[in-house]
Amino acid sequence: MQKTAPMTEHTFGSWEKPVYQRCEDGGTQSRRCDVCGTEESRSVKPRKHAFARWETVRKAWCNEAGEQTRKCRHCEHTETRALAAKKHWPGRWRTAEPARLFAPGKQIRLCRRCGDTIETRSYTLDKKHFAVSFNAYGILLSELTGQKQEFDCFITPFRTDMQGEQTVPIVADAKHVVGNLHLLIEDDDLRLSCSFYDERSEVLKVSIRFFTELDKVTQKNVQKTSRRYQFETPISISKTFGGAKYGMLILNCQGVYDAESGSNILLEDASKEIGFEMLLDEMRQMTKFMQSGNGT
Ligand SMILES: [Zn+2]
Ligand SMILES: [Zn+2]
Ligand SMILES: [Zn+2]
Repeated sequence: MQKTAPMTEHTFGSWEKPVYQRCEDGGTQSRRCDVCGTEESRSVKPRKHAFARWETVRKAWCNEAGEQTRKCRHCEHTETRALAAKKHWPGRWRTAEPARLFAPGKQIRLCRRCGDTIETRSYTLDKKHFAVSFNAYGILLSELTGQKQEFDCFITPFRTDMQGEQTVPIVADAKHVVGNLHLLIEDDDLRLSCSFYDERSEVLKVSIRFFTELDKVTQKNVQKTSRRYQFETPISISKTFGGAKYGMLILNCQGVYDAESGSNILLEDASKEIGFEMLLDEMRQMTKFMQSGNGT
């Protein structure tokens, strides 16, 4: 038989750090006898979680909540919270479809974050953005002078001594015939007016100049905008033309018209018509008279 060792007290070391499955359920801790190695354990009271920092699992996005979590340093417990969804972040207005003369354009606003279109609006541009030259039809300066001109323009000769109405086509943008210029002479008054084929055609800025001598027709003189003459306002023939039988008109206005409208006629097509030829012949005849003394 073996001798039984005498009963002695264990010599325990200190309690170890407690271990928790879940802090709120309490944990256990143990200690060991330094002599025989016997282990003893006891439960410890529940404790509060010790959370680490919040970490973002998913960022909040436009109309979409985000998510953050944090973990307990002692147990397996994890907490989750939502990050509030964001509102769109509007960028600048930008043009998606440019405005045209008679049609509004479209502008949109995108979100700087997600790129979605968040607002749309239509916009228009002032007519003057689309202005082109409106000229009275005539003989080209280069033809009249017989020299190539750096600056060329239509010169419209007309009779100052003929009572009644003379009509000249109005050419827009050197492409389309869009209406007529009417020169109405009653006694000493000359009155200019225009009529258009399409009701949307419009003169925005008026420039009317008169000459009696070809030498005076220079780029500078033509391009000077005359405030003296307006449509529908009587002009004194004797004061303006000083007795000359023929005057030269240069109409160099700014205007708008619909290049797509079927009411306007391509200049190319119009100039093939007999009426146009006759008018030009008539004008050429007049300039001959002008060059040989102009009736004075
Ligand atoms: Zn022991
Ligand atoms: Zn915990
Ligand atoms: Zn957005």
